[in-house]
Amino acid sequence: MNIEKKPTAAEWMPLLDPSQIAVVLVNTSHPGNIGATARAMKNMGLTQLILVDPEDFPSGAATARAVSAVDILENARVVDTLEEAVADCGLIIGTSARSRKLPWPMLDGESCADKVFREHKTNKVALVFGREDSGLNNEELQLCQYHVQIPTSPECSSLNLSAAVMVITYEIAKRARQQENAVKLPEDDFWDQERATAEENERFFEHLEKVMIAIRFHDPENPRQLMQRMRRLFGRIRIDVMEMNILRGILSNIEWHIKTREERKVPPRGATIEQLEEQMSQEKT
Ligand code: SAH
Repeated sequence: MNIEKKPTAAEWMPLLDPSQIAVVLVNTSHPGNIGATARAMKNMGLTQLILVDPEDFPSGAATARAVSAVDILENARVVDTLEEAVADCGLIIGTSARSRKLPWPMLDGESCADKVFREHKTNKVALVFGREDSGLNNEELQLCQYHVQIPTSPECSSLNLSAAVMVITYEIAKRARQQENAVKLPEDDFWDQERATAEENERFFEHLEKVMIAIRFHDPENPRQLMQRMRRLFGRIRIDVMEMNILRGILSNIEWHIKTREERKVPPRGATIEQLEEQMSQEKT
């Protein structure tokens, strides 16, 4: 009798550490989709599911659709907000069926898988999926550093939620399994420092906004898209923890200088964003 031992998930995909990669579902309405997502994840060797404010969970419908992936449902973390879900992540990738007003760095399925694979050992990764009816809203998309759009027929561009999870996680598993046969990764894939986490980035954006208001560059009554642009900029650069300390230090020093100027009653100088935009539009004409 030929009793061949079935390989474990770790043996099937030894170069991926599933504890570092979370699938995050935001405000899902149909529990069946949560179950189908768990199943797709287990098919692809992933384990970490985070549910942000699900409408109906736990649920028999989710358990039924999960089939042999009930353990993923049982271990799923349920949180109230997306901020909480991604707080400890250094790479946050949002998925969207359509392009948004302010263009964001885009990845396709393969380049997303490549990035996740290369970075997941040093940064926790969140793959964020939206509501069945309306997807992710702009604030949620802006918490992500990259967006992924799965190319689809324009006549029917939106995938079922768990089908989208399937495609993205399939690409990641495929990439991780390919690597076994490939040569060493190029040097630039390794970064000496960890990237700042979502929580550290949020604290930085709050600090940056406060300082930009204090130096009168930013008017919260007329915010335009300044903070979104700052999020996009720093998301593109992906600052590491050391760079984050430097930036926070600069901001604190600016605050210190503002305070001493105020004490000496010296009026602030410099241009506001309105003046800069006006100057740029005049230069163009
Ligand atoms: N009507 C919604 C679609 C929501 S589909 C919209 O226009 O955004 C539910 C979720 O599945 C989406 O939020 C996204 O996470 C994922 N999804 C669906 N189609 C996708 C596609 N083509 N590319 C990437 N993600 C997709």
